[in-house]
Amino acid sequence: MTAKVIDGVKLAASIREQVAERAAVLTRQGVKPGLAVVLVGSDAASQVYVRNKVAACEKAGLHSVLEQYPADLTEDALLSRIRTLNADKTIHGILVQLPLPKHIDAHRVIEAIAAEKDVDGFHISNAGLLMTGTPLFRPCTPYGVMKILESEQVVLRGAVAVVVGASNIVGKPMAMLLQAAGATVTICNSKTRDLAWHTRHADIVVVATGKPGMVTGDMIKPGAIVIDVGINRTADGKLCGDVDYASVSQVAGAITPVPGGVGPMTIAMLLVNTIEAAERSNASGITP
Ligand code: NDP
Repeated sequence: MTAKVIDGVKLAASIREQVAERAAVLTRQGVKPGLAVVLVGSDAASQVYVRNKVAACEKAGLHSVLEQYPADLTEDALLSRIRTLNADKTIHGILVQLPLPKHIDAHRVIEAIAAEKDVDGFHISNAGLLMTGTPLFRPCTPYGVMKILESEQVVLRGAVAVVVGASNIVGKPMAMLLQAAGATVTICNSKTRDLAWHTRHADIVVVATGKPGMVTGDMIKPGAIVIDVGINRTADGKLCGDVDYASVSQVAGAITPVPGGVGPMTIAMLLVNTIEAAERSNASGITP
């Protein structure tokens, strides 16, 4: 069997078009949806990510502000900047690019973002709302994966799903969303005994570990759908996922490539979350 290759670029483009239409409606009503992206330090990958996010905003007709600070910015200065953005009525979404320099407490920074502007969905109250089945913002990467599964018309109710990786930003919220959609979910981590036993029983496997090529074809049930969240750079500078594409694509029913799978969807869903934040703020008539 050769797996269907899921085109995340095409799906993301159609979602971005819908965002652009919603942005145009809001703009006509006098509200230009706005996203602030804050980057501290000069991590090369982070710089690429934030530039892509800002460019995607502009293309969809959203207002965006990129704030770049040197790596020695103090935590107090960053918290003060976030408080200002919380009160800025032209900004509906705030994103602080992770990782932050070691001297800054990322938890404290995320908790400082107003929950109704936390378009990454990482604030503890948004994590709690997701956990209790009433999400305000779904974290962008898992949200993008759900859109992929929806577009592939994957039946989630009763499906067996295995999420490999248990981070707060990908693995855990991914498991929550799959579970809320009716799947039976197992979350695996680096201590899981016999990972292959788990993955081989799964109809859906989502991999987010940061370990290149760790899930191989022999670990996959024939016909399963495999979603590769990983973004790793090989020695020759190319991007690769956490899934061994060559072997898994011979067994799976469908697979997301890296690049061109989950990555573009993450940015598209950031735009969706920002537009939702702006629409909510407009509907409530509340200005911060
Ligand atoms: P983290 O490092 O925060 O978490 C990795 C998780 O994987 C941990 O739960 C860890 O287990 C688990 N893990 C590590 N090794 C193994 C193993 N051998 N078997 C099973 N589980 C393992 O990573 P992130 O969640 O932040 O990111 C994961 C990957 O996704 C990275 O490649 C990252 O670049 C990519 N990413 C891609 C995005 C996109 O837009 N496509 C967005 C965000 C991330 P334990 O808990 O035991 O330590």
